[in-house]
Amino acid sequence: MRSGSDVFGLVRCPSARYVVWLAPMAAYLYPISLAALSGFVFALERFFPWRPGQKQLRPKLWSDFIYLVFNGHFLGLLLAGLASTWILPHVDRWLAAEGLTDAVYRNAAAQWPLWLQIIVALVVVDFIQWCVHNLLHRIPLFWEFHKAHHSVKDGEMDWIVSFRFSWLEVIVYKSVLYLPLVFFGFRWEALMFHAIFGTLIGHLNHANLNLGHGPWRYVLNSPRMHIWHHDYEGDAKTTVNFGIIFSSWDWIFGTAKMPPEPPARLGFDGVETFPDNFFSQEIWPLERVMPRVHSTVVWSVIGALVMAAAWYLREPHGVRPETPMLGEVAAASQPSGVFPPTDAYSPDPAEAETALVHFGKQAHADGYADHESMVSVAELAKALGAPTLVVLDVRPEKRFTLGHIPGARRLYRGEYSSGDEVPGLSRTRGELEQLLRGYGVLKDNTVLIYGDGGPEPYRLWWTLRTVAGFHTRVLDGGLQAWKAAGHHVAGGEGLAVAAGDVTVSGAAATPIQRWPETSAFITEHPGAKLLDTRSEIEFDGTEQHPKAGRAGHIPGAAHLDWADVLRDKEGDHRLKPPNELSDLFARHGVEENTPVVTYCQSGTRSAAVYFALYQLGFDANDMLNYDGSWAEYSRLDLPVEP
Ligand SMILES: [Zn+2]
Repeated sequence: MRSGSDVFGLVRCPSARYVVWLAPMAAYLYPISLAALSGFVFALERFFPWRPGQKQLRPKLWSDFIYLVFNGHFLGLLLAGLASTWILPHVDRWLAAEGLTDAVYRNAAAQWPLWLQIIVALVVVDFIQWCVHNLLHRIPLFWEFHKAHHSVKDGEMDWIVSFRFSWLEVIVYKSVLYLPLVFFGFRWEALMFHAIFGTLIGHLNHANLNLGHGPWRYVLNSPRMHIWHHDYEGDAKTTVNFGIIFSSWDWIFGTAKMPPEPPARLGFDGVETFPDNFFSQEIWPLERVMPRVHSTVVWSVIGALVMAAAWYLREPHGVRPETPMLGEVAAASQPSGVFPPTDAYSPDPAEAETALVHFGKQAHADGYADHESMVSVAELAKALGAPTLVVLDVRPEKRFTLGHIPGARRLYRGEYSSGDEVPGLSRTRGELEQLLRGYGVLKDNTVLIYGDGGPEPYRLWWTLRTVAGFHTRVLDGGLQAWKAAGHHVAGGEGLAVAAGDVTVSGAAATPIQRWPETSAFITEHPGAKLLDTRSEIEFDGTEQHPKAGRAGHIPGAAHLDWADVLRDKEGDHRLKPPNELSDLFARHGVEENTPVVTYCQSGTRSAAVYFALYQLGFDANDMLNYDGSWAEYSRLDLPVEP
């Protein structure tokens, strides 16, 4: 669950002065509203009392005040902290493990306009609450917990007792009411509206006010109606008026009762011996199963510890830093001119972890075939800091030191090339496993690779996939796209990591694709198209690569500069949209079912073209990236062109 400061566009606010004021305001929106509504209803009682003899400053007010503070603020924080730390990540992981990430109803409400979300949240939540409230009265064990709320005696029925209820009720209500709403993607504003409006109606329902709402009595609950819910004479079978915000449920289901006068006596049978303060009431149901501790001091200490835990878990401490640097220092040259989207980063690792399941959704929406392998900048930003996410930066050390995505680990091209006399060949499966372990990759990690415009990320993606059968993803657009979106970068050498335990398994039949394998592939695939993805001058032999044996190209190859698969090699390094890629390949003689062999100097630039073809849905069995590439071919005693 998000705190208010994540939600409002505060980090974008031009004046720091307003940020300082507004951020805590937003974070404390509910407590502030609670205080304001309490003052308002208290004033109404002061000037328009229904039962004139009733005192506002009555005995046991202090106990109800602790209830108000605890239930209205701390317990909610504690539960939200526990839920987001311990429950929701496991739920999301379980859903992911069951293949339910695309569950039909997940976030179904997110597309609705806010007013509709507010109305549905109000009505649905209130009805569920009405049902739960019925159960609290009708199931004996639940009734033990609900007794605290019904311990309101004559002379005590006022606004503040709307918060006199057991911690178990808070847990039950929060989980059966709010977790489903979060699941269905309701916006926090809708939940907040329910919480604040519900608090106002709850305060009024218990207030010492002669308010019955006239003809609206059939819709809205009121003080004159709700006081009969606290009638001493009502037992499990005859209790009435279970409504919280709306009275309609009671009128519809025949549990409504609304005489003009209040009941003769409040409470329940046994209220005389029921504990009479916050601490003893909170533990009352538990005392059946544990020894009694008659010490207000002990319970005060326990209560204070619970509140401190709530504070520690959830309390917003001023303005959150704009970028999670994950323990690294900010780079000297930060992106300028743009700010990250306001909801860019998840507030804690657990929430970042849940964002991992959204990887590839943008690519899926954009129509790429292997969307699992493509991660958008926005998707990464939300997942940054997830404990199981490994981000690999494949750029040279100097560029890494100047600025990298926070938390990234640097892995350079040379590290996954073998020391063969043909430069740039893939390492073996076992060596790649060792390499990944050296970078701390664990069994269940999600590995994301990025560069800054070069083809290296695709080479590593292809190598790990083809040689080691290990699935990784590529950040679409790389570091340029990351910075263009206003995201911050960390400087320095990166953080040290402990060794990982990843194991790579299955691999394709011919993981190492040198010339004999490539030649055989061309023979086995009549009509196979050979694509030379180097620069124009390397292709036509004008220039010889320093690591090539000769100049020229493989006879029969067509030329396609690898950078043409990018939207804009000077700026936007994202892959071209699928339809533009199809047009590009069609212009080079590659149609839907054409078998393709890609090559360049050492299989790196060609891996980017291979990736682009794969994103168009080309069958991996009809594609081959020539690992040896021109580095090998130019050294063999074979014909070359021109
Ligand atoms: Zn009740």
